[in-house]
Amino acid sequence: MGDSIDYQDGRWIVPDQPVIPFIEGDGTGPDIWRAARRVFDATVQRISGGKRRVEWREVLAGEKAFKTTGNWLPDDTLDTIRRHRVAIKGPLTTPVGGGIRSLNVTLRQKLDLYACIRPVRYFEGVPSPMREPHKLDVVIFRENIEDVYSGVEYRAASPEADAVITFLTERFKANIRPGSAIGIKPMSKFGSQRLVVKAIEYAIRSGRKSVTLVHKGNIMKFTEGGFREWGYEVAKSRFGENTITEDEAGKGDGGRVVIKDRITDAMFAQLVLRPDDYSVIAAPNLNGDLLSDAAAAQVGGLGLAPGGNVGDGYAVFEATHGTAPKYAGLNKINPSSVILSGAMMFEELGWSDVAAGIVRGLAGAIQARKVTYDLARLMPKSTEVSTSDFAECIVEHV
Ligand code: NAP
Repeated sequence: MGDSIDYQDGRWIVPDQPVIPFIEGDGTGPDIWRAARRVFDATVQRISGGKRRVEWREVLAGEKAFKTTGNWLPDDTLDTIRRHRVAIKGPLTTPVGGGIRSLNVTLRQKLDLYACIRPVRYFEGVPSPMREPHKLDVVIFRENIEDVYSGVEYRAASPEADAVITFLTERFKANIRPGSAIGIKPMSKFGSQRLVVKAIEYAIRSGRKSVTLVHKGNIMKFTEGGFREWGYEVAKSRFGENTITEDEAGKGDGGRVVIKDRITDAMFAQLVLRPDDYSVIAAPNLNGDLLSDAAAAQVGGLGLAPGGNVGDGYAVFEATHGTAPKYAGLNKINPSSVILSGAMMFEELGWSDVAAGIVRGLAGAIQARKVTYDLARLMPKSTEVSTSDFAECIVEHV
C-alpha cells in the first residue's frame, strides 16, 4: 500500500511509494492515460532500480463519473485529491453553451490551484513553422483563478446586466451601450502577487535568467497595470537579494534574476522575433492563456504541450489539449502532452531523475522518427505508430 504525499513549510514530502490519484479523462483520455501510465511506471522502475513506485488511484470526473454516479465531479474525487494532494488528469468534455460549467475551471477553483504552469520547449525533429524553434524555451506562469475567467458574466439584456449598467451609468457616468452583455474582470494584489512569487521562486530554484511580467496596463490601468506594479513590488520586497529590475541590470545582473515587463501585444511579437530573450513569464489569466497556445504552436503544436495547475500544497497536472472525441478508442492519438505533464509532476515532487528520464525517452522516440499520426503527417521519412507503440518507443529510449 502506498502513502500520501504531504506538504510542510512550502515543500512536498514525498514517500517512495506515493499514492497519486488520476482522472482518466473523456474521449481519447483512456488511450493516452494507458500509454502515459506505462511510460511512468517503466521509468520510475528503471531509474530507481525498483526502490520507488507510484500507486495510481483512479478518481472519477466527466462523462465516466456522470454515467457511474450521476454527478460530473463527485465530492469523493475532490476529497481524494485533497487527501493525496497531487493528481494527474486527462482531458474532460465541456458542453458548449450552458449545462455544466467547465470541470477544469471548477477543479482549479475548488483546490485554489492559482498557478497554471506551462513549459514550452522544442524537441529536435518536430516540425515547426519557425526557422529556429529551439530558441524558444520558456515556462509560462498564468494566474488561474481571477481576471475575466472568474465567471462573473451576465447575458446581454438580462436583468443582472441591465442592473449593472444602470448602476455604473447613474453612479459613475460610465458610458455603456444599453442592452450590452457584461463581464467583470477582478484582479487582486493578493492573487497577482502570489502568482508572481511562484514564478520568481521557480526562476531562482532552476537557475533561470529572467521573469517577464506580461500585461496590458497601458489600456487597463488598474487591473493589468496593477498586475505589473504589484509584481515589481513583491519582487523587491520578497526577493530583493535575488532579483534586479531590467533598468538596474544595465551594467550587469550579478547573477540575479532580472525582472522585466512587456505589454501583451508586444510580447506576442517578441516571442516570435527574439524568443531567447525570455525565460520565465508571469501573466494574468487571459494573457497567459493566449500566450501559452501561441508559444506552443511555435515549437510544433499543442499535442506536445504539458500543463500543471499548482497551489499551495495541492497540484493537478493535465494534458492541455481536449478530448479529440473522433479518435476515441482508436489507439491513434499522441500521448505526449499527458506524458510531459507527468514529467512536470515528478519534477515538482523532487523526482527530477524520473522527469529527465521521461523527457529523454520522448526526445529519443521523436528522433527515431517513430511517431503518432499527427507528427507523422508532418515529418518526412517518419513511421506512423499507434499510441501504445509510441509509449513502448519512449520506454526504449528512457
Ligand atoms: P481537441 O480535443 O483538442 O481536438 C482538436 C484537434 O486537435 C483534434 O481533432 C486533433 O486534430 C488535434 N489534437 C488534439 N489532441 C491531440 C493529440 N493528443 N494528438 C494529436 N492531435 C491532437 O479540441 P476540441 O475538439 O475543441 O475539444 C473537444 C472537447 O475537449 C471539448 O468538449 C472541449 O471542451 C474539451 N477540452 C478539454 C480540455 C481539458 O480538459 N483540459 C482542453 C480543451 C478542450 P486533427 O483532427 O487535425 O487530427
